[in-house]
Amino acid sequence: MFVLQNVSFRYGPATQATPQGPSNWALHNISLTLPRGSFHLLTGPSGAGKTTLFKLLTLALQPTEGTLTFNTEDLTHATRSQRAHLRRKLGVVYQNFRLLPHLTVRQNVELPLTIHGPLTPTQQNEVAEMLEWVGLTSLAEKPAGQLSGGEQQRTALARAVVHKPEVIIADEPTGNVDAAMSRKILHLLTELHKLGTTIIIATHDEKLINSKQIPIIHLENGHLSNSPSPSESA
Ligand code: ADP
Ligand code: MG
Repeated sequence: MFVLQNVSFRYGPATQATPQGPSNWALHNISLTLPRGSFHLLTGPSGAGKTTLFKLLTLALQPTEGTLTFNTEDLTHATRSQRAHLRRKLGVVYQNFRLLPHLTVRQNVELPLTIHGPLTPTQQNEVAEMLEWVGLTSLAEKPAGQLSGGEQQRTALARAVVHKPEVIIADEPTGNVDAAMSRKILHLLTELHKLGTTIIIATHDEKLINSKQIPIIHLENGHLSNSPSPSESA
């Protein structure tokens, strides 16, 4: 589905590594395939490059070097319409949630569905069920800007999955919720995976990492650490 070949990413113009500081490369020579229907955890310490990698997958950033394809379509330098087309297939939980603060919880969750016009009664029911499931029914008419961190995270999760996307990309989706909600979220994602959804979750939640048999992609300082590229192992 997604294929990254020798992708490197640098924030800003080139600088040399100096004794005073590192270079500004955030990702180095990443080659990675996320097959359709796969489920991966993306792990690594803070600053390892997890969010940067997700920004490449959602086409918010373009690789400085290397190529990115989705279903064999080269999206390395995607056009506006290619970006819009891909994003309709994605459900994204951003690390900083990116809810629209003046819209209510319900309106935020409805957003991915309203692209095609007003909601059908079936879709309205689906939104209501989703809100119930994440425990936000009583807050449905509250502006998202007035929510706690955990409530925002649950709203963001509901918004990411409500339109049954082909791919779910979730950046630390359990970072602000309690252990019970964290298990519930993992259970939901596991169920969606069984239905064929491709999923990648960035996390440093040890329980999540240890609890399930989910393959791990590990980043350290912008390098994939446990899958050396062919050139390195040769
Ligand atoms: P993670 O999500 O694993 O914590 P990030 O992808 O956010 O890591 O960051 C990877 C590296 O890129 C870090 O060194 C971080 O300081 C740097 N970085 C992240 N965002 C920016 C930015 N907008 N401008 C410059 N450097 C950035
Ligand atoms: Mg991050």
